[in-house]
Amino acid sequence: MNTSAAANTKIPAIGILGGTFNPIHFGHLRMAQELADALKLAQVRFIPAANPPHKDMLTISAQQRAEMVQLAIADNHRFVLDKRELLRVGASYSIDTLQSLRDELGATASITLFMGSDAFSKFDTWHRWQEIIQLCHIALVQRPQLRGHDTALSKTLETFLHNHYSENPDDIHELPAGIVTMRQVTALDISSTALRKALKSNDSVRYLMPGNVIDYIQSNQLYC
Ligand code: ATP
Ligand code: MG
Repeated sequence: MNTSAAANTKIPAIGILGGTFNPIHFGHLRMAQELADALKLAQVRFIPAANPPHKDMLTISAQQRAEMVQLAIADNHRFVLDKRELLRVGASYSIDTLQSLRDELGATASITLFMGSDAFSKFDTWHRWQEIIQLCHIALVQRPQLRGHDTALSKTLETFLHNHYSENPDDIHELPAGIVTMRQVTALDISSTALRKALKSNDSVRYLMPGNVIDYIQSNQLYC
């Protein structure tokens, strides 16, 4: 009996998790794991942003954020670090990243972009956002309410959701792109913002992120 999830899929299917990962934490890792399982994905690529259009200046280098991702995913054979945004010059727009993935993986591969509810609530401000759904599916997860963040959807996004929504996660294996699905994952109220704050105040971040990433932060004296 072949128990590989990938063996059941009709076309190669991969997941994508973009983020600043400043630093990576169990919220990212757990949602990626649960979506990979629920959507039967052979691989999840973690794509750290180099120069995110929606973020203020970062205090640590993109290379260091990528190294922390690499450490965090090292023991998971389905998780892969993808550094394409770090290698590109200029602003990293998701549309360009997805186009380059599409060029690499081919027109028929199923590509699913993972997004937390906070990211999705701003999706209609992304560069050429309406074209993104032609390049990938989107899997949404509810993020525990972030204090001070409004995750209410605009009318435009509600219509977008309505037009592309599918309840059945298997649908993403029928098409390369075009479907939005929502999955429930274990709610972990962890954010990089809270971790940076804790590290700055010398509070422990144990049990919120992988131990080898904590070791890396300490030996490189990051976030202090
Ligand atoms: P920051 O506080 O610096 O914004 P963050 O914790 O939000 O960091 P990001 O790198 O901005 O992490 O997030 C990348 C992606 O992961 C986004 O789609 C975000 O919604 C999702 N995500 C982050 N943390 C969680 C979590 N705890 N649960 C589910 N999804 C998450
Ligand atoms: Mg964030």
